[in-house]
Amino acid sequence: MRSLLEPRLADLSASEPGLVVDVRDERRALLFDLGELGMQPPRVLLRVSHVFVTHTHMDHFAGFDHLLAVGLGRMQRLVLWGGPDFVAQVEHKLRAYTWNVVHRYEMALAIEVHEVTPQGLMRSARFDSSSAFARSDEKSAQADTDVLHDEATFRVRGRFVDHEMPVLAFAIEEKARVRLAADRLAAMRLTTGAWIRDLKHAVLTGMPADTMIALRWRDRDGEHQAQRSVAELSPLVLDVVAGRRIGYVTDLRYTEANIDQLAQLLADADLLYIESVFLDEDRAHALRKNHLTARQAGDIARRLRVKSLVPFHFSPRYEGRTAELVAEALETWGGPPSFIDAD
Ligand SMILES: [Zn+2]
Ligand SMILES: [Zn+2]
Repeated sequence: MRSLLEPRLADLSASEPGLVVDVRDERRALLFDLGELGMQPPRVLLRVSHVFVTHTHMDHFAGFDHLLAVGLGRMQRLVLWGGPDFVAQVEHKLRAYTWNVVHRYEMALAIEVHEVTPQGLMRSARFDSSSAFARSDEKSAQADTDVLHDEATFRVRGRFVDHEMPVLAFAIEEKARVRLAADRLAAMRLTTGAWIRDLKHAVLTGMPADTMIALRWRDRDGEHQAQRSVAELSPLVLDVVAGRRIGYVTDLRYTEANIDQLAQLLADADLLYIESVFLDEDRAHALRKNHLTARQAGDIARRLRVKSLVPFHFSPRYEGRTAELVAEALETWGGPPSFIDAD
């Protein structure tokens, strides 16, 4: 069945970091990292509602300006998430420009920025184009989970890994999805209608089982109406399918502490995007640069038992040889775990 979230690398050559995740049926997208965005058509960037930045090394944050330039006057709201000092860093970016006319734009832009520290302190601020992007602080809070963003159909979790600086690794999780059991529906001689949408919404958002759904259908005897509870209806006409879990992991050292963080975030994930910056023959160089080799990335994927793997963020030194990086990562991973796991 079709997935709610459709991820793809921002850079087709997989060299630059970045992931675009389309939220299907909503004409909306999530963006992971703000790297080289020049190759994204404006219509894609204008759909971005939430951005999650792993860390603010230039190759992960320089695209902020491009996104802002595209969005000004055309985007109403943009939510950004990042690590320690992220709010101040976004503020510095905004302060670097002159905003003497932006308050006259017909469509005002509100930028909401959230940062989280490895200790779980969350801080938020707002920058509105209507007030020349002046900073307005919002309340800070102590996080008790790793969930950064949560909405009806999916959530985004983040945990810190070490890259000689704290870097966020992300899990993008579809919540359970429901599918209409068309054959059973037909057997019950019910017809589809707005009530299906109401029922799906009630199930997906966890509304109480005794929530009543107004059924309305028409057959050759005319128009019918009835009230049935979510508990009665959902097993009859819906199949519940587990949602997909997708990982976006880049810029980290190969350490047991990092692997432990990733295991808590992404064990058994369906799809993992993970950096594979260097070949393992250049492991000493990877260590100095605080990056993974492709073999290390594949090893992490194997230990997390992920079902599918996409290596990315290749060093420019392998131009023309990136297939070697992909092969080394995939070989070490060894393919998806079998259904009956031996270990
Ligand atoms: Zn990087
Ligand atoms: Zn980095």
